[in-house]
Amino acid sequence: MIKAEDLYFSYTGSPPYVLDNINLEIRDGEYVSVVGENGSGKSTLMRLILKFIKPTSGSIVSRTKRIGYVPQKNDFSNSNFPITVYETLNSYRRLLKIKNKSVIAENLEQVGMSGFARALMGTLSGGQSQKILIARALMGNPDLLILDEPSTGVDINSQQEVYGFLKKINQENGITIVSVEHNLDAAISNSTLIYHLKDGQGHLCTPGKYAEEFLKNKGKVDDNA
Ligand code: ADP
Repeated sequence: MIKAEDLYFSYTGSPPYVLDNINLEIRDGEYVSVVGENGSGKSTLMRLILKFIKPTSGSIVSRTKRIGYVPQKNDFSNSNFPITVYETLNSYRRLLKIKNKSVIAENLEQVGMSGFARALMGTLSGGQSQKILIARALMGNPDLLILDEPSTGVDINSQQEVYGFLKKINQENGITIVSVEHNLDAAISNSTLIYHLKDGQGHLCTPGKYAEEFLKNKGKVDDNA
């Protein structure tokens, strides 16, 4: 589904590279957590998958029909612009040129937020607004979902709900998930694979193997532990 071959990337177009000879294959149906220190290139890799930017050399392809993207959670509570949950989803529906408005109710139900259509985004908790962002990303019926730190600003109980939901759509709907993760516990307990970026290089392993390495070098695997 996603394949990077001899992928090099730098923002200047010349060395040093942020991503330095990446070879990575992610098959359909995986749930991959991308981990690594701040500045290790996690977001850059996501931007490459999303085709927001192009490789400096080498290639990255994703054989997907539709990609859903959940950006890092905006702080709606700081927004002076009052917008309801319904309006947030409806503007995205128009963007995707989906004619049927019932898709909004369906998406809200899917994430367990049916009663919140009229709520102002600024009044939602971190977990609730994250669910709305996920609902929005699912609107186009994606086969690949990319997330950027889904637990940031989300309380512990809602984190469990959010990860439970991601696991469910991965297992039951077969949606491939690639998620940038600071939350190593979440990465280990929820994903099927972990991709660890360090010094421009990437290493793909099972959560079990990663946990083993992590415990062995407790605190040394990365700064975010
Ligand atoms: P991470 O997501 O792991 O924190 P990033 O992909 O954001 O890492 O950043 C990787 C490196 O690229 C960092 O050194 C960062 O400063 C640099 N970088 C990120 N975005 C840009 C940009 N738009 N222009 C120039 N350099 C950038």
